[in-house]
Amino acid sequence: MRKIVIAGNWKMFKTQAESEEFLRGFLPHLEETPDNREVLLCPPFTDLSILSKYLHGSRVQLGAQNVHWEENGAYTGEISGPMLTEIGVRFVIVGHSERRQYFGETDATVNLRLKAAQKYGLTPILCVGETKEQRDHGKTESLIISQLEKGLVDVNQDNLVIAYEPIWAIGTGDTCEATEANRVIGIIRSQLTNANVSIQYGGSVKPNNIDEIMAQPEIDGVLVGGASLEADSFARIVNYK
Ligand code: PGA
Repeated sequence: MRKIVIAGNWKMFKTQAESEEFLRGFLPHLEETPDNREVLLCPPFTDLSILSKYLHGSRVQLGAQNVHWEENGAYTGEISGPMLTEIGVRFVIVGHSERRQYFGETDATVNLRLKAAQKYGLTPILCVGETKEQRDHGKTESLIISQLEKGLVDVNQDNLVIAYEPIWAIGTGDTCEATEANRVIGIIRSQLTNANVSIQYGGSVKPNNIDEIMAQPEIDGVLVGGASLEADSFARIVNYK
C-alpha cells in the first residue's frame, strides 16, 4: 500500500511569528482530513524548533528543506541530520530544483544527502524534474532516469519519497497536465525496485487543480510551494475530494 503524502514547501518564507499564525488558521481544518493522508510542513530551518513544539501531539509532521551528509564538521551554513531529528523533524527535501539551479547541488551531492538523511533517521523526499528546454527536446524521460540512477545509488527505497517536479511548472502557474504527470510518474515507478515508494507531483499545485491531480492512479501526493503559504488554500489541498 502506497502512502499519500501531502507536503508544503515554504521555501524561504515565514518568520516564526508568521508560521505560528499559519498554524492557528490551518490546524482546525485537519479535523476533516482522512486518516490515511500524511500531512507535512517543510518550513525554513529557523521555524522548525518552534513548530515542533506547537505541533507536538498533532498529526502534522515536519520536514526540513536540506540536510548535510556529515554528522557535524566545518561546513559553514549547513545543518546535519542529528540536529534535525533531535528537534522532531522526520522528513527532508533533497535535490529540489532550486538547490540544483542556484546552490550547485548535483546528482552526486544529492546522493550523499539522501544516504545521510536515511542514516540519521529522516525520510528523504527526492525531487526530480526537467526544464522546459529538456522537455521540448524530448529529453524528459532520459533526464529523469539519469537523475534517479545517479541519485539513488545505495539508497534504501524502503524509506523514501520521490517528487516529480517539472521545473517549468514550479512557481509559474503553468501546471503539468494531470495525465502527463501521471505518465511520467509511472515511468519513475518503473525505475524503482520498491513498488511501494510514494511518488508526489509538484509544480503549481493549487486548490483548483488538486482534485484532478489526486484522481490520477500513479500520483500519491503533492509537494506544494506557493499554495502552502496560506492556511485556507493549503487546507483545501490537504482535504482534496
Ligand atoms: P509551487 O512550488 O507549488 O510554488 O509551484 C512547488 C515546489 O517548488 O516544490
